[in-house]
Amino acid sequence: MGSFGRDEVFTKVEGPIIVGGGPSGIAVAACLKHDGIPSLVLERNDCIASLWQHKAYDCVKLHIPKELCELPLLGYPKSYPKYPTKSQFISYITSYADHFGIKPLFNQTVESAGFEVERGVWRVKTQDGCYESRWLVVASGENAEPLVPKIPGSEVFEGTLVHASEYKNGDEFRGKRVVVIGCGNSGMEISLDLCNHDSIPFMVVRNSVSYYLLIYIVFDYNGIIVLRALICINNTTIIIILSKLTNSKAKVGSEEDRCRQPYLYPVGIERLLPVRPPARL
Ligand SMILES: Cc1cc2nc3c(=O)[nH]c(=O)nc-3n(C[C@H](O)[C@H](O)[C@H](O)COP(=O)(O)OP(=O)(O)OC[C@H]3O[C@@H](n4cnc5c(N)ncnc54)[C@H](O)[C@@H]3O)c2cc1C
Repeated sequence: MGSFGRDEVFTKVEGPIIVGGGPSGIAVAACLKHDGIPSLVLERNDCIASLWQHKAYDCVKLHIPKELCELPLLGYPKSYPKYPTKSQFISYITSYADHFGIKPLFNQTVESAGFEVERGVWRVKTQDGCYESRWLVVASGENAEPLVPKIPGSEVFEGTLVHASEYKNGDEFRGKRVVVIGCGNSGMEISLDLCNHDSIPFMVVRNSVSYYLLIYIVFDYNGIIVLRALICINNTTIIIILSKLTNSKAKVGSEEDRCRQPYLYPVGIERLLPVRPPARL
């Protein structure tokens, strides 16, 4: 929650304030616009979908078939392949935002947000301005911040140490031996990219193949449908059991660096809520 000075002037926003101009924030703004509701998108970077424009390696493609991760109301062009490339995705989301006339305020980092109970408004502060609205949507991303575990000896390591979000391509690693930590989508693709750039990657895999990769391998294209069905029919219990069976918890770094499994997952939290958010504003 934020603390605000008495003299600060707040600009009243018609409709919700949306924090984050990634695919989620843009999609929320588009759905609202479609229903005639204005909104204000505040984005800390200088473009929409900054994760994809600034923090994704060159060879990345969607990891999920395009039909299953398209944004609402306007799908991918038919000419796009099943797994669109980075530039195709950026072009899609740019034309999506243009189509709905979504114009975020760029270079605005939301520093705090607080709810004023008496007036029933959210007060949101960026480095340059203050805004207030009855509604606040936080779409700041689940992996917008890189997580780099503490690796003993890294402080004296003389080679290059980069997080996947800073990796662009294997050019600077030609002929070098590279350790890739993690064999999720990014780790796998970056290892392949390193091979394609004549370097020698070694993968450090924390454990067995994770449950969702197993489901993908067994069900191929239908894997994501199976995952969605599992979530719908039985809360997230089956997913958690599968995850435990394949032991997919992070094991690199100290205890505080590891991603802790939450006690409750989104579907479980939603079921506990006494009142669900209204479908329409
Ligand atoms: C390599 C890779 C491959 C992926 N492949 C797929 C795929 O195939 N299909 C799929 O559906 N998903 C995929 N994802 C998941 C990816 O997270 C989503 O595609 C998508 O980017 C999530 O959108 P988002 O808007 O929720 O979050 P983000 O894209 O992270 O956007 C959040 C935005 O909020 C902004 N922000 C954060 N904090 C603040 C603040 N305080 N003030 C203002 N702005 C702020 C950030 O700058 C960012 O622009 C992939 C991710 C990666 C890294």
